[in-house]
Amino acid sequence: MKEFAYVRASDADEAAALVADRPDAVYLGGGTNLVDLMKLGVARPGLVVDVSRLPYDRVEHRSDGSVLIGGAVRNSVLAGDAGIRWRFPLLSQALLAGASGQLRTAATVAGNLLQRTRCGYFQDVTKPCNKREPGSGCPAVGGAHRELAVLGTSEHCVASHPSDMAVALAALDATVRLRSPGGTERTVPVEELYLPPDRTPHRETVLAPGELITAVELPAPPPGALMRYRKVRDRWSYAFALVSVGVSVRQADDGTLDRVAIALGGVAPRPWRARAAEERLLGHRPEDALLRAAAGAELADARPLPGNAFKLGLITDLVAATVRDLVTGADPAAGGHGEEQS
Ligand SMILES: Cc1cc2nc3c(=O)[nH]c(=O)nc-3n(C[C@H](O)[C@H](O)[C@H](O)COP(=O)(O)OP(=O)(O)OC[C@H]3O[C@@H](n4cnc5c(N)ncnc54)[C@H](O)[C@@H]3O)c2cc1C
Ligand code: SF4
Repeated sequence: MKEFAYVRASDADEAAALVADRPDAVYLGGGTNLVDLMKLGVARPGLVVDVSRLPYDRVEHRSDGSVLIGGAVRNSVLAGDAGIRWRFPLLSQALLAGASGQLRTAATVAGNLLQRTRCGYFQDVTKPCNKREPGSGCPAVGGAHRELAVLGTSEHCVASHPSDMAVALAALDATVRLRSPGGTERTVPVEELYLPPDRTPHRETVLAPGELITAVELPAPPPGALMRYRKVRDRWSYAFALVSVGVSVRQADDGTLDRVAIALGGVAPRPWRARAAEERLLGHRPEDALLRAAAGAELADARPLPGNAFKLGLITDLVAATVRDLVTGADPAAGGHGEEQS
């Protein structure tokens, strides 16, 4: 590992000034992704600024039903928070479907959102990769791309975003609070945090140099909404999603859906809000044929590669089953772990 300096920041201004001043400086949350990438030589910072002890470590449930989640809150703390488990079960389920107990205890909300893709070529510095080395090429298109994206890709990069939590947050209409080195704040919807790969896959987010994620904000959930997160993966644990879905729906008295939010994971360079599918379902009864047609509408612009075309059928099945189970009250966990393997 390249030598680097380490500073534990005592306040946000100090942290931001340190990172904004040096192009080779990075923030450190729990370190569970960054340190791995440093060991592999993928990340080579000269200065690591630890922001995990800044006072952004609280989950605040407000009287209007919204929630402010500090950027330094640990994933295990958030998953176990009683208010989150009760009112936003989708978020708790997504967190518990990710990584392992030990990793979740170290990992932070901000670090989880900004974790890097698990594309094997990105992690292997002996291979070319446009994301790591702009203009060097994308071996994944003609190589191993089973886990990679089918929606929102470009010919320059087909990497998928790995975060389960980000998918839940997209379905919950969460926003992310960013603090600039000058101390001003701005808020962006979680989906808009991530940039499409286009011709510049090395530019992954809208963050400006030195900008710090201080919090995630959840609006109050619609009263009566039913929520669930489901993830299909190759193993029960330590495995990223092949496909995942976060769903929040509400049924009116006549059985039609009057609220629908669906986000997909493992299929795009960012959490993918399935707006076309939502539009097809809103105001209708969630019959199986319609659910499958809605998922099909979402996939109209999909660009699968030979090794990951199976994801299209998987997405359709998962979306249809998750909405159907929610409205019928079926519990997919009743027969096992509540998750699927491929
Ligand atoms: C074996 C294994 C299995 C895993 N499985 C899953 C899985 O199934 N699902 C899943 O979602 N995740 C999984 N993970 C990933 C894990 O969730 C992430 O490593 C973790 O969430 C990253 O959080 P962190 O706080 O440790 O981030 P760090 O490693 O500290 O940082 C990650 C990035 O965020 C930046 N950063 C950190 N804090 C801030 C901030 N406040 N503002 C701006 N930038 C910041 C850092 O500079 C860095 O670029 C797995 C990891 C491992 C090792
Ligand atoms: S898919 Fe993206 S991350 Fe993977 S090799 Fe291609 S450019 Fe790199």
